[in-house]
Amino acid sequence: MRIFYSFLLIVMSCNVPHDKSDKDHEVKGDTITSPIFSDTVQHSLAEPEVLLPDYDTSKWTDIEYLDSTIQVDMKYATEDNFVKAKMYECSRCFLRPQVALALQAAHRDLLKQGFGLKMLDCFRPRPIQWKLWEKVPDPRYVSDPRKGSMHNRGAAVDLTLVNQLGKELDMGTPFDFFGPEAYPAYTNLPDSILTRRLLLTQTMEAHGFHGIRTEWWHFYFVGPSYELSDMLWKCY
Ligand SMILES: [Zn+2]
Repeated sequence: MRIFYSFLLIVMSCNVPHDKSDKDHEVKGDTITSPIFSDTVQHSLAEPEVLLPDYDTSKWTDIEYLDSTIQVDMKYATEDNFVKAKMYECSRCFLRPQVALALQAAHRDLLKQGFGLKMLDCFRPRPIQWKLWEKVPDPRYVSDPRKGSMHNRGAAVDLTLVNQLGKELDMGTPFDFFGPEAYPAYTNLPDSILTRRLLLTQTMEAHGFHGIRTEWWHFYFVGPSYELSDMLWKCY
C-alpha cells in the first residue's frame, strides 16, 4: 500500500504543470544549460562512450581491452622487424581468452615488483604467416604456414620487460635477434640482464607459459590445443 502511494505521488508530480524553476533549465538539443552555472557551462546528456569489443569474445581477447596497463607494440605492424616490412595493418594483440588471463596475471605479478610487460607479437593470423613465409621461406626463422605455430593458434607471445615508468629495459639483445646471445641459457651478459631474463622467465612459467631454447622473448601457453586461425582483426 505504501509502495502504491509513493507511486501515485510520483505520477502526480509528473503531471503537475512546469513551474518557473523547471523553465530555468532549458533543454537545447542534447544539452541542458543552467543559470546556476555560467552560460558557458553545459551538462551533456550523452552517455559516456563505451568501447565495445569488435571481435568474437568467446574465441579471442584483445589485450588492450582486458588490461590497458599492458603495453602493446606489435613489431610486425611496423617496419622495425627482421623482415623490414609492415605485416599487420595495425597493432593489436589478440590471444585466446585463457592465455590472455594468464598473461595478465603475470603482468600483475611484475607490477608489484616495479616492472611490467610490453607485447611485441601475439596471435599471428595465418594469412600473415604466409606473407612472412614468402619473404623468408626458411623454417629456422619462420614457421611453415601449412604446419602453423603457437602464434597462429593465439597461444604464444613475444614480449619484453618495461620499468615502472614504462621504459623498455635492456634484455641483452633486441627482439628477433638470431644468435646465441638471445638464448635464455646464454650467460655471458651483465648480471642486471641475467636477472631480468630470469625474472621474465620465472614469472611467465609461474603462470603456465613455457619458454624456448633460442629466444628470450618467446613464450607459449601450456593448455588446451587451440586451432590454427585465419582471423584478421579490424583496425580503428
Ligand atoms: Zn614468438
